[in-house]
Amino acid sequence: MFSLSSPIQSISRITPAYQKRLLKFGIKTIRDLIYHFPHRYDDFSKIVPIGDLKLNETATIQGEITKIENIRIWRKKMIITQAFICDETGMIKAVWFNHPYLADQIKEGSKVSLSGKISFDDVLFISNPAYEKINGRKTGSLRHTGRLVPVYPETAGISSRYLRYIIQTVLSSCKVEDWLPEETKKSQNLPGLDESIREIHFPSSFREIDKAKRRLGFDELFLIQLVSAKQKFQWDKKKAPAISFNQPLIKNFVDSLSFKLTDAQRTAAWEILTDISKTTPMNRLLEGDVGSGKTVVAAIAALQTAFEGFQAAFMAPTEILARQHFETIKNFFSGRDLPIALLTSNDCQTNLPEELSKKEITQKIKKGEIKIIAGTQALIQKKLEFKNLALAIVDEQHRFGVVQRAALQNSISKIQDGSPREIPHLLSMTATPIPRTLALAIYGNLNISRLDQIPKGRKEIITKIVSPQERQKAYDFIRRQIKEGRQAFVICPRIENESNKKTDPQAVSDKRKAAWLEIKAAQEEYQKLSKEIFPDLKVGLLHGKMKPAQKQKAMKEFSAGITNILVSTSVIEIGIDVPNANVIMIEGADRFGLAQLHQFRGRVGRGTNQSYCLLFSDSLSKESALRLQAIIKAKNGFDLAEKDLVLRGPGDFIGTRQSGLPDLSMASLNDFESVRQAKNEAITILTKDPELKKYPRLAEKISNFTQTVHME
Ligand code: ADP
Ligand code: MG
Repeated sequence: MFSLSSPIQSISRITPAYQKRLLKFGIKTIRDLIYHFPHRYDDFSKIVPIGDLKLNETATIQGEITKIENIRIWRKKMIITQAFICDETGMIKAVWFNHPYLADQIKEGSKVSLSGKISFDDVLFISNPAYEKINGRKTGSLRHTGRLVPVYPETAGISSRYLRYIIQTVLSSCKVEDWLPEETKKSQNLPGLDESIREIHFPSSFREIDKAKRRLGFDELFLIQLVSAKQKFQWDKKKAPAISFNQPLIKNFVDSLSFKLTDAQRTAAWEILTDISKTTPMNRLLEGDVGSGKTVVAAIAALQTAFEGFQAAFMAPTEILARQHFETIKNFFSGRDLPIALLTSNDCQTNLPEELSKKEITQKIKKGEIKIIAGTQALIQKKLEFKNLALAIVDEQHRFGVVQRAALQNSISKIQDGSPREIPHLLSMTATPIPRTLALAIYGNLNISRLDQIPKGRKEIITKIVSPQERQKAYDFIRRQIKEGRQAFVICPRIENESNKKTDPQAVSDKRKAAWLEIKAAQEEYQKLSKEIFPDLKVGLLHGKMKPAQKQKAMKEFSAGITNILVSTSVIEIGIDVPNANVIMIEGADRFGLAQLHQFRGRVGRGTNQSYCLLFSDSLSKESALRLQAIIKAKNGFDLAEKDLVLRGPGDFIGTRQSGLPDLSMASLNDFESVRQAKNEAITILTKDPELKKYPRLAEKISNFTQTVHME
């Protein structure tokens, strides 16, 4: 008997060479192996007497080999293996191309089972059939023929044939223990786990495949929902300071703005202010397209918090964004007596008249004399203490890695003063909209506010796909725009590495390599643009490997209009706000996700001038053309997110690799109804038994799951 957690090495038939190849699929344990599911099936279930075969049908025949030989065809540089098979009703010819070893494996007199399509050329024959010997074997144990035959995702050196063999071997000596509560199975009408795993690999009918898929898909969703519901239960037990809503204060602030809030901004602000007025900590995600004006909504909450005497922290993923927030908030609140600080690992400043050292600033934060603190991850470092942090805002939350996000939640519950059970309200913001179903599926413990309106007065951005022949025209266009006083961004492509899959042990170094290649591309582009194309203009460069001071300088020069063109990489500064920039040119556009392209596009269109997004693509594939068309048609990020989910799947979309979500192989996150049911079942179980005491196997499953997966 195999145990599921044993390494595949324990299967003596898997040689080290195969172990290495299986690792390409992330298969390390027996469990991994039996969870490597087929992606389709060949229907070879019809076993037909040779005498009854019909032309063009796909069938399985079983009989005895009467003759088998290799024939070399010099002209075509090919070896044909030709065999004759007999049963009581007739004889048929079988041919294989370039499988000469078959003649050694299948000897005359062997009993075989062959599956394939029946063809005719003088006589009936079966070409390149799947085959297996059946000497003394029961029909039920057929693997490659005579049944619904699983076809697996393959890789070099790992064929479906091999996987069938090894998986069947394993399944014959292991039992998969079920962990789903009986009542859940019953109410959802789901088959057992062991049965489902067997049926998914070696199904008895298409109906059974569907049942097994439903069960295995449910498992994936259910686990996610349980973890997320559990987090919500725990979160709801915690306490946060109630920050009461002061209407005149907020009205006064909103009236002081140079623009009118959109209805969506008003609603979101109201939802947030309502949340933070309660003692249950807020856990809300503010979603809004680039340029939808999330910052001001967050600022409203921060103002209310500060006014009540508490502190608010505003955390951004990069120095530049943190500084930008600092400047923005400072401007919003100028004329108010509201001490604000910026804190990053390289920069510390406040809006107070006196010059203060970093130490003095952190002291003031500790004493509660500074009310709003903008910064980077520096804010969650242990050394920093707050007096009474009551609101934590995380901008571009998806940019924070799994570990950082986990650290953030932990540190949030640590950074508190006096009342040990109080934690701050949490407001996360993202410009990458999450499709509704996906949100329900993976952010089930979050409340969501959406800014689905773009502020008035913005012109629609004109988006164009530029072919390689039109490159010069595009450069001329940029030059004209710059002559008129505008500025342009140039984004260099992400260089994707084929082997950059999570399961690949090389992935990490490849990822670094890809990042480095991207920087190299940006540097080369910078050279080309500054020396050859626009020698008379000022071109700037900004990428992740530059020193903070250099980055700051590059950004400042661009904001101030000193540089005309800023060459940058994809990984950098998604929130940059330079209203005078009205052209963004994206190289290798087909390599980016739609949501990301849309984000880049949002760098422009922030001022009053007509803005343009030029997409350069070398890929002529139909699929990439389709995707780029989608970006031209879609005007809002929510639509695109839904499209991206369909086109690229959830893994790519939310970057499961970074977020630590499991790969969902069976569940469809597009299936709103399944997600909803899984969620309801999870809540039912947890409401009955919050500690899962009655469900030890489920509890264990969850604890394993949360060790590898972190969710919001
Ligand atoms: P994002 O949601 O991408 O973070 P920002 O908060 O940076 O967007 O806002 C983008 C720009 O739009 C800023 O210059 C901001 O001052 C401005 N803005 C925000 N709300 C409005 C509004 N209701 N009307 C006009 N401009 C607005
Ligand atoms: Mg922003």
